[in-house]
Amino acid sequence: MESDSVDCVSLTDGLDEEEVTQHRHPFPKPHGSGAPPLPGIAPATSVHELLECPVCTNSMYPPIHQCRNGHTLCSTCKSRVHNRCPTCRQELGDIRCLALEKVAESLELPCKYSTLGCPEIFPYYSKLKHEARCNFRPYNCPYAGSECSVVGEIPFLVAHLRDDHKVDMHTGCTFNHRYVKSNPREVENATWMLTVFYCFGQYFCLHFEAFQLGIAPVYMAFLRFMGDENEARNFSYSLEVGGNGRKLTWEGTPRSIRDGHRKVRDSHDGLVIQRNMALFFSGGDRKELKLRVTGRIWKEQPNPDSGVCAQSL
Ligand SMILES: [Zn+2]
Ligand SMILES: [Zn+2]
Ligand SMILES: [Zn+2]
Ligand SMILES: [Zn+2]
Repeated sequence: MESDSVDCVSLTDGLDEEEVTQHRHPFPKPHGSGAPPLPGIAPATSVHELLECPVCTNSMYPPIHQCRNGHTLCSTCKSRVHNRCPTCRQELGDIRCLALEKVAESLELPCKYSTLGCPEIFPYYSKLKHEARCNFRPYNCPYAGSECSVVGEIPFLVAHLRDDHKVDMHTGCTFNHRYVKSNPREVENATWMLTVFYCFGQYFCLHFEAFQLGIAPVYMAFLRFMGDENEARNFSYSLEVGGNGRKLTWEGTPRSIRDGHRKVRDSHDGLVIQRNMALFFSGGDRKELKLRVTGRIWKEQPNPDSGVCAQSL
C-alpha cells in the first residue's frame, strides 16, 4: 500500500455537500465472470448494493432515509447534507424508506472487514456489534503526539510511522536509549517520543514521555504491541532506568495498540519515574534530564526457545 500519500491530519468533521457527492461510487462492474447484467436490470446480488449508501458507500442501517424522488441515503449522511438530497439536490425532508429497512433487517451480511480476512456473517444488527470488536478491523495509528487519524493494517502503519512521523526503527529485542532534555522543568518538551522495534517477526512501540501528575512532571516509558491483545500476551518486556548508583526496573506485558496511548499512560502501566528520581538518575546538577533506559522484549512460550533473542525472523 502507498503510504507517502497519507497525510496525518484530522479529517474534517462536517463534510459539505460537494465533498459528499464526490464519494459516490458506481456499482462495481462484473469482470469477465458470467453474463453481463442486462442494462437497467440489477442482478440478484445487488440487494447488497441497494443497501449501500450511494453517498458514503457504507451499508445502510435503519433508519434509512430517502428524498421525495426516492434517492436513499444513510442516517449519518443525512445529518451531514444540510437537508438537501445529494443526488437530486431537492429538499430532503424527513422520509424513511421502510421497505428498504425491512429488506435490510432480513439479510445476513458479511462483516465489513471481510476484505481484510474476517469470515463472519451476521444478521443485520449483530453485524454492527461485531464490527466494533472485530479482530480484523484496522488499527489506529499509534503515534501519540498528534491526534493522527490514519488507520490500517500493521505493515501499513509501520511504513506510515517511518515515513510520515519520522519514527526511529530498530531491529532486535534489546535496546538502550538515552533521553536527554535540557530543561527538565518543562513537561512539554519531553512528550511523545516513540521508537519502533522489530523482533520475533512483530512490531513494538516504545513510548517515552513526560506528563504532569499533580504539580510535578512524571516520566514514563512503556511498550505497546502492534497487534491485538491476545497476541500481546505472548510477550513480556522489561525496562530499566538508572544511574548514580540507583536503578529502577519494570517488567510487564506489552499492551496492544488497540488500547489507546492515553489509556495506557493514565493507568500507569509501565515504568513511571518521578521527576526527583529522574533528576537523581541524571546525576549532577538537576539542570538536565539524562535518562538511560535499557530494555528487553521476550516471548512467553512454554518451549525451549522462550526467552531466546530471535532477531530478524
Ligand atoms: Zn451514507
Ligand atoms: Zn433526491
Ligand atoms: Zn469481522
Ligand atoms: Zn499517524
